[in-house]
Amino acid sequence: MTTPIPAEADWDRAPGLLEGAMDLELTAQDCDLRYWLQAVPQGTLRGRPDGHHPDLKVGPHMLRGPFYDAITQEYAFRALAEEKATRVLSFLVANAPDIPSMEFYATQLIDECRHSMVFRNHLVSLGVPAERLAEAVEEFASPYRETVIDPLEQRCLEVMRDERDFIGGVVMMTIILEGALAPAAELSERKWRPLDPAAAEIDKGAGIDEIRHLTVGAAIARQHLLDHPEDRPRVVEMIREGMRMWEELPTHQMVLDREVRFQEGLALHADIVGDYEIWPGRRLVDTTPEERQDTADAWSDEMKAKRLKYMGLEEALR
Ligand code: FE
Ligand code: FE
Repeated sequence: MTTPIPAEADWDRAPGLLEGAMDLELTAQDCDLRYWLQAVPQGTLRGRPDGHHPDLKVGPHMLRGPFYDAITQEYAFRALAEEKATRVLSFLVANAPDIPSMEFYATQLIDECRHSMVFRNHLVSLGVPAERLAEAVEEFASPYRETVIDPLEQRCLEVMRDERDFIGGVVMMTIILEGALAPAAELSERKWRPLDPAAAEIDKGAGIDEIRHLTVGAAIARQHLLDHPEDRPRVVEMIREGMRMWEELPTHQMVLDREVRFQEGLALHADIVGDYEIWPGRRLVDTTPEERQDTADAWSDEMKAKRLKYMGLEEALR
C-alpha cells in the first residue's frame, strides 16, 4: 500500500511558493518527522536526488557569457546562504521547547542542507570542476559574502546560539531571512524556466520546502505569542530591527547586478526565450532588470504584510 503524498509537497500538485506561503496553514504538529519522511524523501524528491529530473541537461548558452555569470553568482550565494542556515538551525533544534518543534526544525535543517547541496552541485553541471567546487563557491559569492552573508550570520548566532532565544530565532528565520528571500527564489524559478530547466526544477523543489518553512515558522510564532502575550513588544522590536538591518544591507544592489547580467544574456539569446511569459501577459524578453526586481520586491512586501497579520504582529510594519 502506498501512502498518499500531501498536495502541498507533491511535485505536480503543490501551489506556487507565494500562494502557498500566503494561503496555507501548517503547524509543527502537522509537519512532524513522520510527515516529512513520507512527504519529502518519498514525495517531493522522488526521482530527483539532484533537485531536478536526471534527464535535464544544461544547454551551451549557459556555459559561458552573461547567463553563466548571473547564475553562478546567484547559485554560489544561495549555496553559501543555505549552508549558513543549516548551521544556525542546529541551535533551534537544540533549544526547541517541545518535541513537535524539535522534529520540525530537524527536518528543516536537512532541507536547507539539501538546498545548499543542489545549488552548489549545479555549478558542476555548469562546468565548474568538482575538485575545486568549494573555492569556486567562495569566489563567485565573494562580492556579497562579507557585506550580506556575514552580518546576517552574525545576528543569527547572537540570537540563536548566544542568547538561546528560540522564538527570536524562529521569527528571525521566518520573517527576516526566508520571508525576504522567498520572492527572489520565485523570480529565479520563473526566469530560468526556459533557459535552464534543471535550475528551474531546483528552485521549484526548494520552493515547495519553503512553503512548509514559512507556514510552520509563522504558526509557531503565532502560537507562542498567544500563549505569551508579554513577549510581543520584544518580538515586534526584533522584527523592526531585522527589517532595518535588511534595508541597510546591499541586497538590492546584489540582485540588480545579477539582473543586469541576465539582461545581457536575454539580448544575446532572445531566440531561446521566445514568447515565454514570466508572469501572465508579460513576455520575459520584454522585461527589464528593474521591472523584475520591483516585482519581486512587491511580492515580498505583500507576503510580509499578510504573514505578520496572521501572527498578530502587523504593528511591526508601523
Ligand atoms: Fe532553503
Ligand atoms: Fe527554508
